[in-house]
Amino acid sequence: MGGQPPQTGSASPGFPFAGAACTLPRTPFTARARILAGTTFKGKTMAAIGGSDTFLLFSDVHFNPFADPSLVPALAAADVSQWKTILASSSQTGYPAYGSDSNYVLFESTLDDMAGRAGDVDLILYPGDILGHNFGANYVALTGDSSQAGYESFVLKTVQFFVQEVDSRFPDATVLVADGNCDTDAVPNGIGARPGDAYLASTAPVIAQAFFNNDADRAAFTAGYSQAGYYVLEPDGPTGLKYLVLNSNLWISEYDDPTAGAMEMAWFASELADSARDFQKVWVLGHIPPGTAASGVVSSYAQTGQIAYQGNMEDTFNNAFVSLELAYSSTIAATFAGHTHSDDFRLLTAMDGSDASELVRIAPGISLFLGGNPGYQIYSYDAQTFALQDETTYVLDVGASKPAWSLEYDYAASYGVGLATPQEWQAAYLAVLANPASQTTYLSALNQGADNQTAVTAAVAPIYLMTPGLTTPASFNAVGAVLAG
Ligand SMILES: [Zn+2]
Repeated sequence: MGGQPPQTGSASPGFPFAGAACTLPRTPFTARARILAGTTFKGKTMAAIGGSDTFLLFSDVHFNPFADPSLVPALAAADVSQWKTILASSSQTGYPAYGSDSNYVLFESTLDDMAGRAGDVDLILYPGDILGHNFGANYVALTGDSSQAGYESFVLKTVQFFVQEVDSRFPDATVLVADGNCDTDAVPNGIGARPGDAYLASTAPVIAQAFFNNDADRAAFTAGYSQAGYYVLEPDGPTGLKYLVLNSNLWISEYDDPTAGAMEMAWFASELADSARDFQKVWVLGHIPPGTAASGVVSSYAQTGQIAYQGNMEDTFNNAFVSLELAYSSTIAATFAGHTHSDDFRLLTAMDGSDASELVRIAPGISLFLGGNPGYQIYSYDAQTFALQDETTYVLDVGASKPAWSLEYDYAASYGVGLATPQEWQAAYLAVLANPASQTTYLSALNQGADNQTAVTAAVAPIYLMTPGLTTPASFNAVGAVLAG
């Protein structure tokens, strides 16, 4: 049925495709969803009359304009309109090595591949980290300029370049950007933008103009983002989907002022309460995922023999976030994060007998800084309920003799279930725990299939396997103590 043209004679209630997209057998789901999403009927897309739509998720580019040090003086002196010409003139024509951030070649290759496979998406989610690691130190070392004004100008040009390059491939898409922990012009880096930071005020108009398509959305974005890095967007009003984009850097333990984080948590709770009252669905997007950093647990396990929780967020904020996600699980249709550079997930589960659960999808990164391959995902979702349906992950194996972007896996085909319901999330996690093929898919996807020292070994696999399902310090440590013996 997927290959037949729509029957132009039938009115909307009897339209053969309307509502049918969710009940067809799932495999190959994404291909069918993409066909349906692109189908037009009396001038409307399938999404508009109740079918599937698609969006793109990519994260953690960590663009590194210092990759070719010989170009840095020219970049610092030039207007951003000249950056593409300058960067393209580099003698570095290959991808960066594992351990490095995205150079011009990797960034362009990523955008071109995404545009080739999903150039018609009208929504892109970017959970943060536009800027490379050690940005401030690199700037000072390679320009000799230690002035804050010079640094802020260079940071702004880097963000402008990032935005311009994304926008050139996806001029009509709305791009939701969360602030990453490297997205700041404070030195030293690593803590994200704080409320009132010049970084937020200076980048807000750049992002607003390119990534949002009408003045109402631009105003909503700017009002929140320019102040404190988080914002709410209701592109279709209170009857549609609401996006809550967090500045979850305010919730990490390195942040020295819990007041700002507490204010944001109160805002998050109040926005969720508003949507619940209006029967509105919400998608949540932030940089830092809840739960533990598995790689940190593995490192300390090697030293101490203990399996001890190491929160991505400070514990109080982590637990508050998890509680809110569960309290509003019928309002929140999807949650996304980045930061780990790992294609991963967190399955939040209530321990109070309520059966509430919530899925946090963690985007693969583009940067090679943590040793994984670059990857991005194309999602399908139900355009009426805003539930996710499926995703396909595309990766670039930079360790291959001839690196090329290719399909890594299709979620529904690999796990036998989709992404829509708590029952499916739980079934997928059980498959990861108990089914060898699903377990291999999950563990391999954690570094996007990179065949190097970041691949998960059998000895520490249990730590990685418990991480998605035990997202509070108490639950993780209780199981960790039993496992470590
Ligand atoms: Zn990152």
